[in-house]
Amino acid sequence: MDDRNDQKNILIPATYRLLIVTLLSSIIYTVLFNVYSTPFTIHAFQPGIIFFLHFTLLIYLYKNPIRRVHRVINAYGAVILFTTVPNTLYFTISAWQGDWRFVDTFPPFSGMIILTTTLMMLMLPEKYNKLAVITWILNAFPVLLFLLTHQEELQTPRGYDLLFLFGPASLLILLIVPYQRGINSHMHKIVFDLQHSQQAAERDFLTDVYNRRGLEGWLNNVNPSTKACVLLMDIDHFKAVNDRFGHSIGDRVLIEFASRLRTVYQGKYGLARWGGEEFLIVILNPKANKTKVLAELFRSAINRLPYKDVGKVTASIGVSSINEIKHFSTMVEEADKAVYFGKDNGRDQVALYRDTLEKPQNNVD
Ligand code: GH3
Ligand code: MG
Ligand code: MG
Repeated sequence: MDDRNDQKNILIPATYRLLIVTLLSSIIYTVLFNVYSTPFTIHAFQPGIIFFLHFTLLIYLYKNPIRRVHRVINAYGAVILFTTVPNTLYFTISAWQGDWRFVDTFPPFSGMIILTTTLMMLMLPEKYNKLAVITWILNAFPVLLFLLTHQEELQTPRGYDLLFLFGPASLLILLIVPYQRGINSHMHKIVFDLQHSQQAAERDFLTDVYNRRGLEGWLNNVNPSTKACVLLMDIDHFKAVNDRFGHSIGDRVLIEFASRLRTVYQGKYGLARWGGEEFLIVILNPKANKTKVLAELFRSAINRLPYKDVGKVTASIGVSSINEIKHFSTMVEEADKAVYFGKDNGRDQVALYRDTLEKPQNNVD
């Protein structure tokens, strides 16, 4: 899975969800703070401002998610950071200066801070964890420091509540990190295995060229009206190779045979192992009247040099007429008939389907 797919499948939906959850919570905060007002007028406005900022981010993301998602996440982190931290500092510092009792005045958003940082850790990729951790530290540290140095405030129900929320309860969040890492690496492994097995499913295990399924996939990516021709090659007397030298040397010949086929043609083509000792090549946009020359190049790549332990190996090559790729199966039938024609006429040769029709009795070589 490349980075762009990661974004499309995971990051963008996660960011939308995070923004929507935050928007909903800002609405609830706005309503509650206005219905049950606190002594601080700012509380009536602040959730509304947060709502507005996140709503802007949501629209901004919606217009171009792929390009903007990273910017939106960073802005999201910045909004959370710059709306919570000054609040926390304002209330702790003022309490320190004796302006008020901290446990009575600290707004009820400690749970929200913990929840937001947890959601960020859960929903966003690992690299954004530090944004969540910084938010948590900058909020938790002043509160914990204040409470631990003011026993009379600590030893109240709210004091203990804040102590445990910003202390041990927050530490539990850290447990999410290895869990999330485990899920991520598991997911990457699954995607890797899937790609690997998809690739394996379309390749011939022995020669690593396409198998039939792989060639079918390749053909599906070609415009159906593209002109093409099919070359079908059948190794001559291959059974005798196996009989004389053994099956594993026969296998080595097949591997060498396939690798020679790869080196011949520079244009666009698809190469597949069609059956046991049969290989098929689809040439795209072949030059008219040049298909025989091209097939001869393949034949010479096959038979010019000896094969290790075996010596000379030859093949009969059948060439279809040029047709649109949507008529692939017709072309295969034609090439197959031409192969038979070549076999009947002495093997180690190229036979054109056109010739098998017009001059069925003659050797076309
Ligand atoms: P012809 O010239 O008429 O094509 O003769 P041939 O012996 O090549 O034809 P035949 O179809 O009788 O034999 C094909 C042989 O290919 C038989 C089979 O054992 C062998 N073969 C098929 N797949 C493999 C393989 O994966 N490895 C090996 N070593 N041999 C294989
Ligand atoms: Mg055969
Ligand atoms: Mg054969």
